[in-house]
Amino acid sequence: MAYIGHRCNCGHSDLQHSQTGEGKTLGSCSASFNPCNCGPIPEPEVIPTFNTKGKQVERVIAPGGGLPSASGNPVVKTCPCDACTALYEQLASA
Ligand SMILES: [Zn+2]
Ligand SMILES: [Zn+2]
Ligand SMILES: [Zn+2]
Repeated sequence: MAYIGHRCNCGHSDLQHSQTGEGKTLGSCSASFNPCNCGPIPEPEVIPTFNTKGKQVERVIAPGGGLPSASGNPVVKTCPCDACTALYEQLASA
């Protein structure tokens, strides 16, 4: 499984950041005890996720779709922005 997201220069995806309402920058990172200096939202990329057996599954989740969190639930939503949608359509038509 994979999803389309923005990998911050801290190495974490947008799902680990509290996004601002304006969508111009990533908010603070929740994946680190040392809050990183997260800047503007980077270009989207396909970010692989792995199932419980550590196997990568090919399916790419559509932007705005649900992605099970590491604990299985609740479900987090992938980024539905224009750039992510464009990348998804590019992949879907390839
Ligand atoms: Zn981070
Ligand atoms: Zn970050
Ligand atoms: Zn996006």
